[in-house]
Amino acid sequence: MAVPKRRTSKSKKNMRRSHIKLEVPGMTECPNCGEYKLSHRVCKSCGTYKGEEVISK
Ligand SMILES: [Zn+2]
Repeated sequence: MAVPKRRTSKSKKNMRRSHIKLEVPGMTECPNCGEYKLSHRVCKSCGTYKGEEVISK
């Protein structure tokens, strides 16, 4: 493996990694309460799925 003559600066390293971020896939807004929820899952905030209340409080 080649040894770099100059090490990559913090700035360049950060620029390269700018698109690397934590991302949770399948997050959608709940149509009932507007809270972020996992798609195809019951909303844990209001307990509804497809407009029907599944979890009773
Ligand atoms: Zn909800």
